[in-house]
Amino acid sequence: MDYLLTVTGLNAWYGGAHILFDVSLSVGRGEVVALIGRNGAGKSTTLKSIMGLVDKKQGEIQFLGQRINHLATYKIARLGLGYVPEDRRIFAALNVEENLLTGQQAPRYWEDGQPVAQWTPEKLFELFPNLATMRQRPGTKMSGGEQQMLSVARTLMGNPYLVLLDEPSEGVAPIIVDQLKAMVLQLKAQGVGVLLSEQNLDFVLSVADRAYILEKGEVKYSDSIAAL
Ligand code: ATP
Ligand code: MG
Repeated sequence: MDYLLTVTGLNAWYGGAHILFDVSLSVGRGEVVALIGRNGAGKSTTLKSIMGLVDKKQGEIQFLGQRINHLATYKIARLGLGYVPEDRRIFAALNVEENLLTGQQAPRYWEDGQPVAQWTPEKLFELFPNLATMRQRPGTKMSGGEQQMLSVARTLMGNPYLVLLDEPSEGVAPIIVDQLKAMVLQLKAQGVGVLLSEQNLDFVLSVADRAYILEKGEVKYSDSIAAL
């Protein structure tokens, strides 16, 4: 497997609180990997650590063969690692289409010269028809679930090689969960990697290839979804 992301022996702290203990994981090209576990198990902290958003960390994090341990968050994002945090990031003053365009990046290419899937507002509107009907609507006039969809869509506008999704299905209607599943499967088909923190096991079983079970900041189990 041609790994996009490898995390080895990751430990992380918030202030003096030691939260993650020797977490190791990997995500390959076109692979969907789920992090599952109870509230407080360390799923979000694992994603935050990868993005350089914890107070302190130790261990090795490689993205596309490059060490990213000490890079600032915006530099990691610029390398083509998309991140949708738990708290949604949209611009309240901008409308849906403008929000999408703020995420736009230059085309990216895989090592073999093939282009990484290029996203446009039109392609995203096909995946999320609700967004298409509100393209002129400002962020202030969107529901939590709609903002959630927009936050995911805006991250794809960066044409990422790999996306970290923190609880994408949280607080959204079942029909939107289905659209999110279709999106993840489309990313997978394009060779994009997905690392997903997700409590919704139906979502995980529908899209993931492998899962890591976290408990109190440690990986307790990891295997293919077929084996679970
Ligand atoms: P959930 O399913 O509720 O989203 P999670 O698995 O994502 O849970 P994390 O958010 O990674 O869990 O939290 C792991 C641990 O770190 C928890 O014990 C939590 O209380 C603690 N924690 C999270 N954020 C902070 C912070 N900013 N400062 C101190 N402790 C924190
Ligand atoms: Mg979380």
